[in-house]
Amino acid sequence: MQALPVVQQPTLAIAGSSARFPVRRVYCVGRNYADHAKEMGSSGREPPFFFFKPADALFQVADGATADWPYPTLTSDLHHEVELVVAIGKGGKNIAPEQAVQHIWGYAIGLDMTRRDLQAQMKKEAKPWCIGKGFDHGAPVGPLLPMETTGEIRSGLIQLQVNGEVRQTGDISDMIWNTSEVISHISKAWELQPGDLIYTGTPAGVGPVKTGDVLTAQAVKVGSFSIRIV
Ligand code: MN
Repeated sequence: MQALPVVQQPTLAIAGSSARFPVRRVYCVGRNYADHAKEMGSSGREPPFFFFKPADALFQVADGATADWPYPTLTSDLHHEVELVVAIGKGGKNIAPEQAVQHIWGYAIGLDMTRRDLQAQMKKEAKPWCIGKGFDHGAPVGPLLPMETTGEIRSGLIQLQVNGEVRQTGDISDMIWNTSEVISHISKAWELQPGDLIYTGTPAGVGPVKTGDVLTAQAVKVGSFSIRIV
């Protein structure tokens, strides 16, 4: 009997270092900016909700670089969602919001790419919408920066441009549930572990992109990256 080769654990490059960050899980928060929650049809401060992307869906691009990114299958309504990504360095469960910052290892800027038509169809049928979110390469991400470089990020610009035109712009302080509260909520449902990433939600302005478009994601203190859809 021939055993299968061991699957490599996904890792992220760390800015300014040859070390790599081993990724365990990728948590994502839905509807975490009021203006985006509104555009998706909700109102008020509803409890945060979560979904996963596979860790091997991460597609890392170096700071300031542009990489070709393949248009996914089965969709004709591919959307961008620019998000601050929090990397967990210390695990825990039932973490109090006041303690949450001690669990943060660092930050990155990321894109929660979404097959919106598939997500909408599954929502309509009250079925799970993994197919809309958890597809191959569906989690582009920029350089990972340690918190010792950035400090705690609680506010500042987050923005997405398509072909040089601003499509999404927001301020990290406008999150409905801030990063500490998000960490606290997640840690009540799952035990967080070192290597977990959290996509923390997107501001308003999500919309469709097509082959040939160049998407540039940026946020305060975490640099920028671009993908060209091919
Ligand atoms: Mn999202």
